[in-house]
Amino acid sequence: MVATLRALLVLVAVLSLTAVILFLLVVGRDIEAFEGKLPKLGEPAPAVDEFFLDKTMKFADQQRGSRVTTDDESYVPLAPAPQGSGLPAGHWCAANTIGYRIDFTGADLSGISREAEVRRWESVFDQWSQASDGQYTFEYRGTATFPMSDDSDGLIANNSLIHNEIAISYATSTHKAQPEWNAYRLPALDDKLGIGGIIPVSWSELSGHSGQITRGMLVIDVDDVPLMGRGTPAPYVHEAGHALGLAHTANEKQVMFAGAGMNATIGAGDRTGITYLGGLGCS
Ligand SMILES: [Zn+2]
Repeated sequence: MVATLRALLVLVAVLSLTAVILFLLVVGRDIEAFEGKLPKLGEPAPAVDEFFLDKTMKFADQQRGSRVTTDDESYVPLAPAPQGSGLPAGHWCAANTIGYRIDFTGADLSGISREAEVRRWESVFDQWSQASDGQYTFEYRGTATFPMSDDSDGLIANNSLIHNEIAISYATSTHKAQPEWNAYRLPALDDKLGIGGIIPVSWSELSGHSGQITRGMLVIDVDDVPLMGRGTPAPYVHEAGHALGLAHTANEKQVMFAGAGMNATIGAGDRTGITYLGGLGCS
């Protein structure tokens, strides 16, 4: 009886230690954004819309971290318009369904279930659609092969991205023995669970895409997927938020907080942000 009890205590101690190590591995990691570089405003700004101007100024303040906002105001666009231009922040056109395609190469190499991942992404985009009050709708368009960028700061090579779609891929920052892994090592993933972003946004009227986001991308670190548990992991939701045009907020109650925990969910500020972006219309 005593021996059984002792064995049970040892088991509990080992399990607790394992849980603590897993917690430290996950919580200690950062999730980071790929910020689209801001192009210069090449064309004269149209008549200033006061609402947009106010929002633009507020975004700029938030980005400098000089303004404390309430929970439901806490969001930052990934591509704010040139300051004072009165133009809308970078946003997807909500009139079009946004497609997403998944490159499973990295997932396959590490034995992660494709079916489970598709279900996760469906849940992720359902959550963002609901958060936008149904303005944004999404559609899984199947698989693709997206080459990783050679640039350690980059993600997926820009020229492989498909118009009006978000490209999803899996990569690793650690060495894998198989030669196939060479193309799926991404230095930018060091100490990060994932990375997400958009291609640079143009506000030039000549381009016909004033402030419009036309391509997004995100990469999940396969080494971390087994640690993310069941359901819809916060890093997936967070990285999708970047691909939808949201940057980090300093407010820790939002899923777009840079250090959002594994159990973080879309918060009031995240909802305000995606609803706002969805309402900016199409060019
Ligand atoms: Zn991030």
